[in-house]
Amino acid sequence: MNDFGLDIWSNKNFIIENDEVKLNYKSMPSILELVQEIRSNDVRGPMLLRFPHLIKKQISSLYSYFDKAIKINNYRGSFNAVFPLKVNQFPHAIEAITEQGGRFNYGLEAGSKAELILAMSKTPLGAYITVNGFKDKEMITLGFIAAQSGHNITLTIEGLGELETIIEVAQECNLKVPDIGIRVRLHSAGSGIWAKSGGMDAKFGLTSTEIIEAIKLLNEADLLKHLSMVHFHLGSQMSDIAPLKKALREAGNIYAELRKMGADSLDNINIGGGLAVEYDQHTKSKARNYSIDEFTSSVVFSLGQVMDAKNVKHPNIFTESGRFIVASHAVLVTPVLELFTHDYQKKLLNFKPVNPPLLDELIELNNLLSNQNCIEYLHDALDHMESLLTLFDLGYIDLQDRSNAEILVHNIIKRALYLKSADPTDELEQLQVKLQERYLINASIFQSLPDYWGLNQHFPVMPLHYLNTTPLRAASLWDITCDSDGEIGFDPDKPLYLHDIDLDEEDYFLGFFNVGAYQETLGMNHNLFTHPSEYTIEIDEDGHKITNEVESKNILEILESLGYSKDDILDKLKGDLIKSDFISKQEKNDTLAKLETFVNQNGYLRTTN
Ligand SMILES: *Cc1c(COP(=O)(O)O)cnc(C)c1O
Repeated sequence: MNDFGLDIWSNKNFIIENDEVKLNYKSMPSILELVQEIRSNDVRGPMLLRFPHLIKKQISSLYSYFDKAIKINNYRGSFNAVFPLKVNQFPHAIEAITEQGGRFNYGLEAGSKAELILAMSKTPLGAYITVNGFKDKEMITLGFIAAQSGHNITLTIEGLGELETIIEVAQECNLKVPDIGIRVRLHSAGSGIWAKSGGMDAKFGLTSTEIIEAIKLLNEADLLKHLSMVHFHLGSQMSDIAPLKKALREAGNIYAELRKMGADSLDNINIGGGLAVEYDQHTKSKARNYSIDEFTSSVVFSLGQVMDAKNVKHPNIFTESGRFIVASHAVLVTPVLELFTHDYQKKLLNFKPVNPPLLDELIELNNLLSNQNCIEYLHDALDHMESLLTLFDLGYIDLQDRSNAEILVHNIIKRALYLKSADPTDELEQLQVKLQERYLINASIFQSLPDYWGLNQHFPVMPLHYLNTTPLRAASLWDITCDSDGEIGFDPDKPLYLHDIDLDEEDYFLGFFNVGAYQETLGMNHNLFTHPSEYTIEIDEDGHKITNEVESKNILEILESLGYSKDDILDKLKGDLIKSDFISKQEKNDTLAKLETFVNQNGYLRTTN
């Protein structure tokens, strides 16, 4: 049985039972069961399932590992965290985050004006708000308004200009001054493909000269008492822990120096995000070389060590991990619409009472193929195929014989590939790339998995059912956009095998996992496909509840969101049809009604799947 790397990426959130993937939680519903329940209400196309219990699990895990490390290391600061809104801004994700984070005083991080407004409306008073990213005077004024309204808000300055604006606003109004943080530019850079946020050439942060200048400015404006935080962020999905340890020592020393320079209110270090998520389905390449346990103890130990050496008060620790908190909570389910090389099905074999001798030999090879003989038999089969094609060209065998031979040889190659999949020869790898099956999925990769398209980020994918059957087809996945980039090709280094399903008889659903971070907000309306329909699934001991349905936008709505007039479009289409000739009034009316229905549905395909 193939578990699709479940033990590598799923963190025990999902298990396989009775040949289906199930939630490993309380009443343990199978995902297929949830999908069928939703589809019984005539929902078609891809759907996004949210599991709030997995957000809760991640938040609890983050806090409890830090608490543990703080105890073990006798660390004297506290641990606090905020969720960065850029990672997922959708209401039902944010609702789950604020609800599950309530008991920890978990807050939100904002990187733009719109996110700040969202944070101000969704963060419970008392929980932290941190604000990063470039800010203008308006955004800074919003920070003052938040502080005045009772929020525990820290504006992190990305440059001296922002500090000057903060001082200006403080002098111009009587609103409460927010806490001020300084993003520091570290010479130690991060690791991983997003590691552009740290390092000397980073887009963000103050150099040491600028930090000294900032302290001088704050002192002159009598605002030094508001300086509360040193901040850095090394970039998302850190693969290696070594650069983080370096960064902690560097930022820790900056913090200690600033306290010695008289920044008495400075008592927080914010280490940003970057805690990585395992997306890999194959043991070969792990996304990160550390566990959450190692991560938290490294952070706490390193900071404690720096402070003790300089005899400085231990800072409170802040994190802004986003990916780690939400990636696992969402699963994208897509129906498979079509398999493209279905002509090689065994059921299409049609032997004669007497077959050509070479064909009989192929039948024999196919029957006796085993792990030991498969390379030899494969060579024999390819050789026979060559001869049979020559016989066909010369008119000695007919089309049915040739078709039988093709199906058999195809099957032999497929099985040999599978038998040797752990250790394929060059020859097999070449065959594999030629023979992949294309699975057409009712979804848009641009809309639902933009990091696959833009950053080549792999996501774990597996069928939701048939898991007692060994999948034999080397699979490439094609979406229904007409863009040739809408394809997840077969990769011999990270092979995906799927089942041979007769889609006229049965449904086949694929799940893409760990898609809860970044994918939703990055998605775009490529080919005018929309965000998939989404559902929140709450699971308890007795069963589950499907709530918060958000139907995928319909065709008219998406055109309207681009700035077109919905009415103009519909009037034009209807007008043209009404003016047309040659059909009866009855058929015209029926067709008008049909047209109206079509434009009020989402644009995903509505074949049986
Ligand atoms: C993007 C970002 C984060 C979140 O990073 P993750 O890798 O999702 O944890 C945190 N802080 C800042 C400043 C960011 O820009």
